[in-house]
Amino acid sequence: MPTLNEALRHFLLPRLEARLLLAHVSGLSHAAMVSAGADPLPEAQWQAYAALAARRLAGEPVAYLLGRREFYGRDFAVSPAVLIPRPETEHLVEAALDKVGRTRQARVVDLGTGSGIIACTLALEAPQWQLAAVDLSPAALVVAQANAANLGAAVQFYHGSWLAPLPPALRFDAIVSNPPYIEQHDHHLDEGDVRFEPRMALTDEHDGLACLRAIAAGAPERLLPGGWLLVEHGYDQGAACRALFVAAGLQQVATLPDLAGNDRVTLGQQP
Ligand code: GLN
Repeated sequence: MPTLNEALRHFLLPRLEARLLLAHVSGLSHAAMVSAGADPLPEAQWQAYAALAARRLAGEPVAYLLGRREFYGRDFAVSPAVLIPRPETEHLVEAALDKVGRTRQARVVDLGTGSGIIACTLALEAPQWQLAAVDLSPAALVVAQANAANLGAAVQFYHGSWLAPLPPALRFDAIVSNPPYIEQHDHHLDEGDVRFEPRMALTDEHDGLACLRAIAAGAPERLLPGGWLLVEHGYDQGAACRALFVAAGLQQVATLPDLAGNDRVTLGQQP
């Protein structure tokens, strides 16, 4: 059997990816892997590692191979049924906490929750808030519900399209969403990790704005006076989103950048 260090170098993987996969199959921390570097790898671990390395070399995302990804400092289960959490979505979470105020009581819904990262994070960061989360995909809801249970996040889940499954009388202090916003022919859909993600979580099979349009149009009648709509969108969709929000009658409409300086989150307030 190869030693642990030999195993790390055995496949043409970036060093960090090799370490993540080997830590996963060995159960060792990175520090423990350093001190065990000259030890032979147990046969079963070598086999499991080689299988994961082959899948990674065939393009499968590391997050799906590990079955988890960190978001806002917490570990979330992920599967090919859900989008892999992206760091830029943390800006949407921050903006919602900032606009609504994390210490007050509020009712908030996350539309198209996927793995549940937004709803679960808000529920845990703002314990006074009552969180609802909606998804059209039953398989995604299974993942989101498991994450909520594992993290102890109190979230009420609904199956359906955007605002449709929510009880008609419910009004919200905030509606948040990271909807599919990639245009149907965007070349990114055929590249890298994205190829393995659920297409329905990435593209509206249209111009990229169809879901953002539906959410902006439906939000006002579900927002309380002074309630906020906050959405994530593509780097080139800020102006279009602001126009949709203004057309929906929202005020204080603004777009916030991500860490790369790209337009990423647009928000607006119900009069
Ligand atoms: N930010 C993702 C990407 O660029 C898209 C996620 C989405 O459509 N909501 O791959």
